[in-house]
Amino acid sequence: MAEEAPGHAGGAGAHAGGGAHTAGDGPRGHHVGDAPRVPPVCDGPRVHLVGAGPGNPGLLTARALELIACAEVILYDRLIGPEALEGARPDAELLYVGKEGGGAAVPQEQTEALLVARARAGKRVVRLKGGDPFVFGRGGEEALALRAAGIPFEVVPGVTAGIAAPAYAGIPVTHRGLASAIALITGHEDPAKDDTALDWWALAAFPGTLVFYMGIGRLAEIARRLIAAGRAAEEPVAVVQSGTTAQQRVARGTLATIAEVVQREGIGAPAVTVVGPVAALAEELAWLPEGPLRGRTVAVTRARAQASDLARRLRALGAAVVQAPAIRIVPLPGAPLDPSPYDLVCLTSPNGVDALFARLAAGDPPLDARSLAGARVAAIGPGTARALAGHGVIADVVPRRFVAESLVEALADVPVRRALVARAREAREALPDALRERGAEVDVLELYETVAEKPTGGTLSDALAADYVTFTSSSTVRFFLEAAGAGARPAGRIVSIGPVTSETLRAHGLEPDVEAARHDVDGLIAALVEDAGLRGPRPAEDVSARGFSSSEAASPHESRSRAGLGGSEGNKGDLK
Ligand code: SAH
Repeated sequence: MAEEAPGHAGGAGAHAGGGAHTAGDGPRGHHVGDAPRVPPVCDGPRVHLVGAGPGNPGLLTARALELIACAEVILYDRLIGPEALEGARPDAELLYVGKEGGGAAVPQEQTEALLVARARAGKRVVRLKGGDPFVFGRGGEEALALRAAGIPFEVVPGVTAGIAAPAYAGIPVTHRGLASAIALITGHEDPAKDDTALDWWALAAFPGTLVFYMGIGRLAEIARRLIAAGRAAEEPVAVVQSGTTAQQRVARGTLATIAEVVQREGIGAPAVTVVGPVAALAEELAWLPEGPLRGRTVAVTRARAQASDLARRLRALGAAVVQAPAIRIVPLPGAPLDPSPYDLVCLTSPNGVDALFARLAAGDPPLDARSLAGARVAAIGPGTARALAGHGVIADVVPRRFVAESLVEALADVPVRRALVARAREAREALPDALRERGAEVDVLELYETVAEKPTGGTLSDALAADYVTFTSSSTVRFFLEAAGAGARPAGRIVSIGPVTSETLRAHGLEPDVEAARHDVDGLIAALVEDAGLRGPRPAEDVSARGFSSSEAASPHESRSRAGLGGSEGNKGDLK
């Protein structure tokens, strides 16, 4: 079976643009053996009041990303998407100072005191706020506290929700002929303040668009007051919940109807309310594509360093992604590598590739891809082949199925005298055993190991409640379930990358609902999308009914979507 023509690294394309495994992992992507990254520019004052935008990680500014990557301390709020913190240094101190569901917040004075204390301790501090720090973000108060303490600071504006969420719903907040002014208004006045803090007469008479932040709980009252003060009851209104994120929802109506529409459709915070003729443009200008995974939450359990590519692609399909890494890749120490004795070098994962090149580069003199010129290079799958291409090597052999046994078959006609199998410590013995059986001398080079990563409490319960939990290797299964604790079971559907991972799931008493036909990220995503399509839109009651239960109980459809399971080969390796 399946040896591709030499020089052709599988159908997935080995050109530089496809090198997601080597370059696409964001600032926190600590690939084993990565070349040192150019450190971000960490200049200027040591305290930064930074806007994180409305929730979509793509709407973080370049300066925000740079500062997040530099920060030693990050104080962040509730509406900061978890993705915003992905680029933080692993040793950064992440301090949550937000409110819990409208409940008690860390008192503002305490946040300010923390800011000042960390800055005085000489730390580089980022105060990360949703949207823009100076738009209903109390950024001004924090700036005053810093000024009073004599601490220099920088302000990094962010994309504010009141403009971004409408934009994502197809509403331009100003529009020639419809609105030539915009008012940003808090719909939730400080409870300590008198209700009359807002001048409803002036707001009703305002010649332009009204955008209310925080007011979703008081929408009926806001609409009533505006009408009472003279705004037309037929004035178009749109409410955008979780704008710009995968959970975005939009409700439309008029001042007279909107409160009821919002209640009926179950729209809740965080939401902005847009009042004015521009709100009606949403019908014509809605542009956000309905991705096939729209409205679904998908948990990703693979190592953080490799998760971001999968997460990004799932998000692009409309999913809300919960990153709950259950494993971590740790490079093993070892002597520099001299590959000259080998006529075959086998690589079984992108991590292995990166680590191998690190070992080559550790020599004296340091070696690079040219040192492999005398050997055939075999990759277990396209991800590994892409990683090789990133180091300038086109794999000679890539099997069609990405498992050890297929690689053995693909190598059947390749003469081998002495082989190097570079891989994880805990890998299966199928490949070295088979090569030895053919009379080859085989050296196994253990380059890294997979250890448990303890997901934080919140992420773990989010992952358990997600519509889908994805497992990309046996170790993700083992360590995820270990972290979840006895008896905890994913409530949603279980997605396995291949038969070996599925067997591990069964050994833990879980039946995979979906198994990828092709045992790589592409195959996993394809299987997931197919399953979501077969199941149709998620019934509304599912949302509230989610909780801990067995995967069987949570799967109303008994039909298991299993796209073409063939053979019994293992999938260990390519995706670890
Ligand atoms: N500084 C932030 C606003 C903080 S006040 C900014 O500039 O955007 C919090 C309010 O912002 C929420 O109650 C909600 O009204 C609004 N908000 C924040 N993120 C939002 C989002 N993704 N979609 C809709 N409204 C959002």
